[in-house]
Amino acid sequence: MIGILGLQGNFLEHQQTLKLAGADSMLVKSVEDLKKVNALIIPGGESTTFSILLERTGLAKAIKQRVKNAMPVLATCAGAIVASSEIIEPKGAKPLSLIDITTKRNAFGRQRESFEAKVKRGEASFNAKFIRAPAIERTGQGVKIIAQLDGKPVWVESGKIIVVTFHTELDGNPIVHKRLLEIIG
Ligand code: GLN
Repeated sequence: MIGILGLQGNFLEHQQTLKLAGADSMLVKSVEDLKKVNALIIPGGESTTFSILLERTGLAKAIKQRVKNAMPVLATCAGAIVASSEIIEPKGAKPLSLIDITTKRNAFGRQRESFEAKVKRGEASFNAKFIRAPAIERTGQGVKIIAQLDGKPVWVESGKIIVVTFHTELDGNPIVHKRLLEIIG
């Protein structure tokens, strides 16, 4: 069973995209819920709000512990920010350190708050939506760059952790969700 963090943000779109990829899911709102799943999706939303709610529910600690025990995670946009090990301004979000990357919030500025672009994955490319997206400014050792936009990483992986800065749940294209299923095995 795959869990989708259901505290805030666009968890419903993730649920639909997972269905397209052929998997069922449940919403995770508490530490008890987390015990019932063997993988977790952290959706887009607002990373500062996520941080507050993750602390309040005890999920911050519980998620970190589960990841230490090899739980696969897919983190997107605001999820990517909270999953990282270091967050550059604006402050307010707390990193869970699930993967050794540095993210910068709202990196594409106000005038480009939202845009669609072709992202490169090897020789292939696909459309991706960026909504007040973060940038991955640094990748630590062992972090693999899977897809890029203008030469900068937008999809990275380390072990069982997948991080994308775009909204992979809004396109009806389950390419990243299928990768999560592959990692779950
Ligand atoms: N800019 C948001 C943040 O900093 C993320 C935006 C999103 O998830 N679409 O949390």
